[in-house]
Amino acid sequence: MKMKKYIYNFNEGTAEMKDLLGGKGANLAEMSNIGLPVPQGFTITTEACNMYYEKNHKLWDELIGEINIKIKELENKTNKTFDDKENPLLVSVRSGAKFSMPGMMDTILNLGLNDDTVDALAKNSNNERFAYDSYRRFIQMYGNVVMNIDKNKFDEIFDGFKVKTKVESDTELNAETLKDVVKEFKKLYKKETEKEFPENPKEQLLLAIEAVFKSWNTERAVIYRRIHNISDNLGTAVNVQSMVFGNMGDDCGTGVAFTRNPATGEKKLFGEFLINAQGEDVVAGIRTPLDIEILKDVMPEIYRQFAEIADLLENHYKDMQDIEFTIEKGKLFILQTRNGKRTVEAAVRIAVESVGEGKLNEEEALLRVDPSQIMHLLHPTFDKNILKNTKPIAKGLPASPGASSGRIYFSAAEAVIASKRGEQVILVRQETSPEDIEGMVEAKGILTSRGGMTSHAAVVARGMGKCCVAGCEAIKVNENLKHFIVDDKVFNEGDYISLNGSSGNVYEGVIPTLEPELSSQYITLMSWADKIRRLRVRANADTPKDAAKAVELGAEGIGLCRTEHMFFEEDRIAAVREMILSDNVEQRRAALKKILPMQKEDFIGIFKAMGPRPITIRLLDPPLHEFLPKDDESLKELANEMKIDFGKLKIRVEDLKEVNPMLGHRGCRLAISYPEIAEMQTRAIIEAAIYVKKEEGIDVKPEIMIPLVVKPKELTYIKDVVVKIADELIKESDIELKYLYGTMIEIPRACLVADDIAVEAEFFSFGTNDLTQMAYGLSRDDAGKVIEDYLNKKILQFDPFQSIDRKGVGRLMKLAVELGRKQRPDIKLGICGEHGGEPLSVEFCHGLGLDYVSCSPFRVPIARLAAAQAAINKKDLS
Ligand code: ADP
Ligand code: MG
Ligand code: MG
Repeated sequence: MKMKKYIYNFNEGTAEMKDLLGGKGANLAEMSNIGLPVPQGFTITTEACNMYYEKNHKLWDELIGEINIKIKELENKTNKTFDDKENPLLVSVRSGAKFSMPGMMDTILNLGLNDDTVDALAKNSNNERFAYDSYRRFIQMYGNVVMNIDKNKFDEIFDGFKVKTKVESDTELNAETLKDVVKEFKKLYKKETEKEFPENPKEQLLLAIEAVFKSWNTERAVIYRRIHNISDNLGTAVNVQSMVFGNMGDDCGTGVAFTRNPATGEKKLFGEFLINAQGEDVVAGIRTPLDIEILKDVMPEIYRQFAEIADLLENHYKDMQDIEFTIEKGKLFILQTRNGKRTVEAAVRIAVESVGEGKLNEEEALLRVDPSQIMHLLHPTFDKNILKNTKPIAKGLPASPGASSGRIYFSAAEAVIASKRGEQVILVRQETSPEDIEGMVEAKGILTSRGGMTSHAAVVARGMGKCCVAGCEAIKVNENLKHFIVDDKVFNEGDYISLNGSSGNVYEGVIPTLEPELSSQYITLMSWADKIRRLRVRANADTPKDAAKAVELGAEGIGLCRTEHMFFEEDRIAAVREMILSDNVEQRRAALKKILPMQKEDFIGIFKAMGPRPITIRLLDPPLHEFLPKDDESLKELANEMKIDFGKLKIRVEDLKEVNPMLGHRGCRLAISYPEIAEMQTRAIIEAAIYVKKEEGIDVKPEIMIPLVVKPKELTYIKDVVVKIADELIKESDIELKYLYGTMIEIPRACLVADDIAVEAEFFSFGTNDLTQMAYGLSRDDAGKVIEDYLNKKILQFDPFQSIDRKGVGRLMKLAVELGRKQRPDIKLGICGEHGGEPLSVEFCHGLGLDYVSCSPFRVPIARLAAAQAAINKKDLS
């Protein structure tokens, strides 16, 4: 039997092999193959990682054998040997999962160093300082990653030496001091692990590989995957790569650069570098890195080469790249490339401009933008007029655009607590690290005093679409004392500040915000989306203001106009209560008569705002007791107002109480009991429509929707009421007015008998909130706790109230679609639950062949883009 292959040399892989080699490994392979200067190496597959877990967290003999063979090959290719006293092989051990997880997994550099090889390195490089600098870094990384020794303990020793020798920067420590650092590091290692530091490179390597496998399941990696919806069983690959050195002197360096600006999308190299530095120095915020532009002056030839490679990589991958490089003694090496993380502003601009440059077609460009991120473009910005007259207290780097105000907190934990209390939180740190993730998720904005545009805070904030100002050196952050000082002014925990992530400015207090301006690239992209999508997009809107907003954001109609929201308005709730508390039909009609003109006014406003676009209006839905006060105090007031006896009122209110109101007297059941309510509402709708058509010449298209139907007879009964009134009014009016009569499909029984229901209904609108609630037998209002437990225990993969449960609820929908169409081929089909603005659910609705989705106004752009992507991907969902 042929043994399974667990290791691939870089020249054996391709960019397509991300599942097996991880993103980093696959791209290292691709770059090697297109002839870029990538140090040699090999990748241990994600399958090996999973096998490691299957084998009870132990490296097994076959794998170790294969590693030994690959090391031999690497030694031959590089002419260097592990543990050689003359010419030792040194490698990096780098994690790399299918999806890049910045800062989540740990990398070890300079592996292979020990007390002998360090001297060889010193001799060969003629640079003892460099050799010991590499050695101390290795012991620290190894001690931290493999043996879990607290990083800070190393830093304390290191900083102690800096103080003792009176130097500011790491690079000023000389060889002798670094030797002492190494000694102290080893002492610390022994104290913490009760073992000597391993001198044998093979042993170092195996333990390091194992540590990378283990890092797949560290808490922070698990949290990151949960936030980003990445599966836990992908595993990570391990890359073993021969070292190149950016820390050998002033003709060396290391850096990271994006081929375009990841915050704005501008087409211009964007990045940072450090001279005489290694690995993560640039992103770790140890020294403040230099702008990549400066490389042009310091090392013009290297800059030219790098710019050329950056261009080549972008063209090759047809996407903006995030590239890591190292310069060793005047020679450029590329150590990583990946599709760069970017803000949604940048994503939109890059996608649209790439079409202009002929790199992408419109469909490809549309797939480049995450629909759920589009919302961030609609978020407010600071009022420019107020900004003009407000002096910032400090200015940092504009790391991730947006505007946010809030109270400052200095630790992730406190940020989380404050946010859960309902506060708007700004997380302030010297520099964030992966441990801060949860705090960053909760914060409205992030401010750091150290680190550059590619620092952890900047990268993660951009990924989350969150406002961030980084490297704001003017503020002195003291995390222990929970304050920062700027210009002698102290800002304490809980104080308000405002951040402008687009300019880097930091302000005292809260600054008012304005609606954003949409970029021309956004408008272009959305016009492509509208051209390609088949699904129509409507909005759920109950007021003229919401309706106008929806149209502005691209809604093509209203899919759900709830009439009860209008009932709550202060000037009409009294009449509504009077109607509810009436003893008989006459009284009720009298009360309804008072409501009619107000309701009519509402519809006139909405019809005008929507113009000729279709508008689905749902007749009264909630249980009536929702309109009544709950406590005796307010009831007494009401009794006074209505001049009725409190005792009598109380009895009536008790009467209306239900044990299970969501399953009670609501929806169409109200109209069956009190047809005069449906009568009044129909009158208001049709009279308003006639008025607007006559006065404004707008071809109004009302669609009257009956909620909570389970039997066709309900529809027949109410239809008699609705049609009678409507047709009478239209006849009297002398104008032509078309309206539709249809129903919500939101109870499983309605799905099962949808063919019979379609006899009476000209349209179905899936109310997937209730449909999910009833399909799961899980109350929407109490589901939170259950769903959280189910998600944590992996019984649920996602929250079915957020994304349609295709298997169950989706199956009910599919059945209703089929039965409905069979009965009435031209039946209009839509969805008006919360799901209508969630990309995966939109995709599902496209696959079902619905005519439209309807969602809240701010989610309309999400739905438009998601519908376009669904049309492009043409996934078969049946
Ligand atoms: P991450 O996934 O956190 O970016 P990497 O594996 O890319 O981790 O490595 C961290 C840093 O070490 C990067 O800056 C990278 O360029 C550097 N590095 C990794 N391997 C080598 C190597 N063989 N020679 C020199 N530098 C390396
Ligand atoms: Mg890292
Ligand atoms: Mg990297």
